[in-house]
Amino acid sequence: MNINRREFLKRTALGTGALMLAPNIKLHGLEKYPDGWRGAQRVEEIPSFCEICFWRCGILGNVDKHGKLLKIDGNPEHPLTHGRLCARGNAGHKLLYDPDRLKYPLLRVGKRGEGSFKRVSWDESLDFLGEKLTEIKEKYGAESLGFFPHGIHARFFSHLMKAYGTPNSAEPAFAQCRGPRDVGYRLTFGGAVGSPEPVDFQETQMMVLIGTHIGENVFTGQVLEFAEALERGAKLLVVDPRFSTPASKADWWLPIKPGTDTALLLAWSHVLINENLYHRDYIRKYATGFNRLKEHVKKFTPEWAEKITEIPAATIRETARAMGKYSPAVGLHPGRHVTWYGNDSQRARAMAILTALLGAYGQPGGLYLPTSVPAPKFPSPAYPKRKPRADGAGSLYPLGSTGLGVTNGLIDATVEEDPYPIKGWIVYGQNVIQSIPCPERTKEAIAKLDLLAVVDVMPMEQMLYADVVLPEATYLERYDDLLTVKNAKTPFAAIRQPVVQPLLTASPAGGLLKSCPGGWV
Ligand code: SF4
Repeated sequence: MNINRREFLKRTALGTGALMLAPNIKLHGLEKYPDGWRGAQRVEEIPSFCEICFWRCGILGNVDKHGKLLKIDGNPEHPLTHGRLCARGNAGHKLLYDPDRLKYPLLRVGKRGEGSFKRVSWDESLDFLGEKLTEIKEKYGAESLGFFPHGIHARFFSHLMKAYGTPNSAEPAFAQCRGPRDVGYRLTFGGAVGSPEPVDFQETQMMVLIGTHIGENVFTGQVLEFAEALERGAKLLVVDPRFSTPASKADWWLPIKPGTDTALLLAWSHVLINENLYHRDYIRKYATGFNRLKEHVKKFTPEWAEKITEIPAATIRETARAMGKYSPAVGLHPGRHVTWYGNDSQRARAMAILTALLGAYGQPGGLYLPTSVPAPKFPSPAYPKRKPRADGAGSLYPLGSTGLGVTNGLIDATVEEDPYPIKGWIVYGQNVIQSIPCPERTKEAIAKLDLLAVVDVMPMEQMLYADVVLPEATYLERYDDLLTVKNAKTPFAAIRQPVVQPLLTASPAGGLLKSCPGGWV
């Protein structure tokens, strides 16, 4: 891509996040740049994908002749990100070479929470873990093991848990992040939004963000499409109490009173229906219960919503009319990290219903539908039959995901020993003390355990309570399960492969720092 300085500055005005999306943009004059560090030193460019966040942008690891990672570039072949990385992705080598990485298996020697450990060999740590797991299974049953996974790396451990025979796996990705949203959309459309969010900003005429901060929460492909949509003149409506980065680019910024978004959404639905601005063909073809909805939103006038939201009724009408004008090409972003006030599923439902009224579900410029990507199944023998889950997903929480589980439910079950005792936890790639609300409750649960095993790259609070700690490889040193992305306009699959050899190797004496030319930076 060739752009001049003025255009570059214009695009990067989105903020520092967007500013970092430009590593592959050639600035005029730079093409004359002589063989720099890159030309002189790089010997290999190894494709893989980033794991600093869930967007999983394509990367090219620039490696020197000693096998040392010099720099991470974006992969121009990647269908979502086209060679861009954000600041975090660019800094991925800092994780690889972080001097504070967990380097050796550790066994606890002091009290839980004290953080006193001894360094042990891999054999010793794995024997300890194996014995404890066998003990728990014999004494309480396989279901007494809880698993807290996160990220694609955890998939191997998920298979291990299935083979062990426990149904109890729960990750914050549902209960603390996008679960309420997916419940709201599933109740409306029959399917969850999924990840990444399939908003068609490429063809949208109007973008609607409700508490979503594109340009601050940088997900590379999304920021890129957002910036391009702005550039070609798509309208932008931002609902946010704070004057966020996208609010600064908006045609309408609605500084709503926090916690009142559902009232605004109901009033918008009221205007669309009352003024016949909704997508009649779409509703006639696909919707059931429209008359009940019409009746339901009758009383939710903009004047009613003004008192609750502090947004003037005239502005509510004006923005609803704008959405009606651009329907169905309205990209109403379903949001992410949407556990806000406790009524989140209902807010998401109101957003999904609004999307349906605009006829924007499965339509160009709105939300596009996922496409399945055929991929071979993980090769495994039949797993043992498992007992019902302890976290309440699908029972006590009928709408809770049985795939992702309910973290708080698993913590409660551990404290109460109800419906049965949970005596062991394996925590993989997440800090349960920090990522789940009410850390005191989590600590109470940990106190009931016979085993807490932590597998991670970096030390964090939960490690202080662990009986055994296993250091894990970063995303730059490993293979992973095949990544299939069905929530993309062009669905694709990506492989992870080591960009460098693992820096830590197993040995009878314990994890060894592999000699790294240039040192452990
Ligand atoms: S958005 Fe940034 S952190 Fe997330 S995967 Fe892409 S480069 Fe990595």
